[in-house]
This record gives sequence, structure tokens and C-alpha cells, in this order.
Amino acid sequence: MRGSSYALNSKLKSQAIPAALFGEAPFGADPAVPPELPALAAAWIQSCNIMPGIIVQALQNAMTPKWGRTARLAGTGTSKRQSDIVHHAQPMTPKTQPTTIVYGTSAPASMASKAGQDVRITLLSDGTSWWDGGGTFGLVPRSKWSKLLPPDPNNLVPQELRCVLIEADGKHILVDTGVGNKPNDLIAAQYVVERPNGTLLEQLAAMTLAPSDIDLVIFTHLHGDHAGWATSRAAPHGDTGSVAGEIVPTFPNARYIVQQTEYDDATHTNERTRNTYFPENFVPLKKHGVLTLIDGDMQITPSIRVVLTPGHTAGHQSVIVEGFAGALGSHVPAAEVAPSPIMLLGDLAPFMIHFERLPWVTAYDVLPLVTIETKRRWQQWAFEHAAILVACHDTRVPVGKLVRNAKGLYSVEPLS
Ligand SMILES: [Zn+2]
Repeated sequence: MRGSSYALNSKLKSQAIPAALFGEAPFGADPAVPPELPALAAAWIQSCNIMPGIIVQALQNAMTPKWGRTARLAGTGTSKRQSDIVHHAQPMTPKTQPTTIVYGTSAPASMASKAGQDVRITLLSDGTSWWDGGGTFGLVPRSKWSKLLPPDPNNLVPQELRCVLIEADGKHILVDTGVGNKPNDLIAAQYVVERPNGTLLEQLAAMTLAPSDIDLVIFTHLHGDHAGWATSRAAPHGDTGSVAGEIVPTFPNARYIVQQTEYDDATHTNERTRNTYFPENFVPLKKHGVLTLIDGDMQITPSIRVVLTPGHTAGHQSVIVEGFAGALGSHVPAAEVAPSPIMLLGDLAPFMIHFERLPWVTAYDVLPLVTIETKRRWQQWAFEHAAILVACHDTRVPVGKLVRNAKGLYSVEPLS
């Protein structure tokens, strides 16, 4: 296995947005945009009619599945498990509205309706999966975590398979892709999934979005519960020229982005990591030439950057959405700067309790001591920036803000 490189205190590298991400040629420069902006970021702002200044307009209509579900699938027959991760033949309409966070513009009303001005973040889900609580909470004694998350009789606790759709800068960007629909015995045994609100693709369809509408997929990392829908088996009579049954990219017009370190580790597994990565989820992306491997922190669009947050895996990254403030920095009048950036934590903290408490680290983390240091750094950042946090597996608190209580301890206050 190759040596993994990671930098705990890496600063945002001033990298221009690579045109190769979207296969687009660079645009011309906009003299109205600050000259120190990377050229492509400036061009994006120009091309998307983005105005500086943002406000949070609306938050939440949680689609969190009900806690304390009694139906248990673990221990049932394989056929039952298999059927639970097979894509539904008929599209389902989600029973609840997804959580949506909208960053609007402070531009005059006449400008506000222009396409591309808003940054809209919608929390989606590929279902709920039940995992052993010991995996989720690692060294934390059961007597402690079970008070917060009571397990079922088999010691299982529910994990939301949360994915996030970001509509920003004229693009549809998906962060993580659930477990997907390519069941094999290993996946079926690990990921028992309940999908009362349908699959990720069905939830996108309910928003009138087809797979072909997705421009970019960002993976926090490549574990099986985050990379599943990246690829699908081609239909018997597909129109893409692919062979029936061949594994192809699910989102035919998308670029997929992951850290180089993560891809290297996912393709050079050891006895510890082998069962967490399924090559059919990501190797075909490379074969089809749609995978972009990046090294460290990077500005992806004017509104979106990724930051290396190692620990769960060495190449794990989180996503920060800062609207226009992040792109324009000090050129935005203070009153118009976004009040809060949004951080999609990924498995840096699968539940909010993991973000609140540094020693609470999952048993799946390959570098648990690194996780603690990464969390220490981002706790401070989140508190100082009053960041809106999104947890990828938390079934109770999908969105929250880090606050300090009277004792000086951090806690996450749900936003609802
Ligand atoms: Zn995960």
C-alpha cells in the first residue's frame, strides 16, 4: 500500500478552477471582477450573472426518517436484503420535502430572478442503513452512546445515507452518492437499506432532475456508502452505446472529483480497508475518463471549495459552500458578506455528536488520532465562522451550528 500524504494545517492553495473539470474552454476576463481572482472563477461569475452579497433565505423542512423504527432487517434472509438495495422499478415520490438551504442575493429585485444567482443546497438521501453501534462509536462505551442513540436489540443504530445537491454557479453538483443499486453479497450484507423516500435517483427525479442534469459529483471519500450511485449497470437496450450489464457512469455528463490519495488507497487496499471499498463504484469512472483526481484543498467553483479533512481516511475531504463571499473576499462590503458558510462534513463527523466531542471517533476511521486533530481545527473554524454544518449520517440532527455552552463546551444546536 502506498504511503498516504496528508497535511493537517494545509492552507487553501490558490488554484484556478481547472477548465478540465467541466470540459469547458476558459472564458474571457471580466474587468468588473477583482483582478486577483483566479481567471476562471472571474469568468464564472461573469457567465453566471452572480452578484456579490448573500443572505440565508430559508432553512429546513427536515426529511429525517422517524427515529425508533421497529422494523429490523438484519438477520433476515439474503433475498430480503438484496431486494432492499435494488432500484425501484417505478419512480417514487419522496413522502417528505427535502431540507433546502437557499443563499439568495442582495441584488435589486429586478436582478434576483436571473438564473444562476442563488445558491441552493438540498439534502437528499439514498435511504437509511442500520449498522452496529460499536462501529459508529468506536472506543466510546455503549453505556454512553446508547443514551443518545438507543440501539435496537441487535445493537444496530440507523445511519442516514445523506447526499447533497448544490445548485450554484449555473451547475448541478452532487456531493456523495449513497450505496447505489449494484448489489452483491458483500454490499448486501454490509448495507441493509430502508428507502421509505426512494433512492437518490428517485429523489432527484422528484426535483425534475435526470442523471444527465448533474454536472459534477464530489466524493468526500470512496467508501461503499458514499460512492454507490457513481456507476450503474447499463440497461439492456441503453442508448449510450454501452454493452448491456456493463458498469457505466450513472451521471453521463458529470465530472467526478476525489482526492488522489483517496483513489490510491481505494485501489490499494489492505485487510483492514478491503471491505469498505468496492472498485465497481469508481474504477469504471477512470476507464471512462470522467474522474478528476486532485491533491489537497481546492476551489471548485466560485462558491464551492473542498478541504482535506483526513482521519476517517487519509484522503477524506469536506465541502465548503461560501456563496459569493468566499469568491470575492474583501471586495464584498461587510454588510453583504454571507453570515454563515456551509460545511458538508462527510465522515469527518458522521453524527453531530462526533463533531461536538473530539474523542468520539468511529471504529471505521483508519487514522483516529488524525481525526481528532482535524476535528479540533475545524471545530474552531466552525465556531468562529458560525458555520452551518451538515452531517452525512445523522438521523436526528442533519443540520446544525456549533455553539459553546455555559461550561465552555462545544455542542451542536439543531437548525430547524
Ligand atoms: Zn460513511
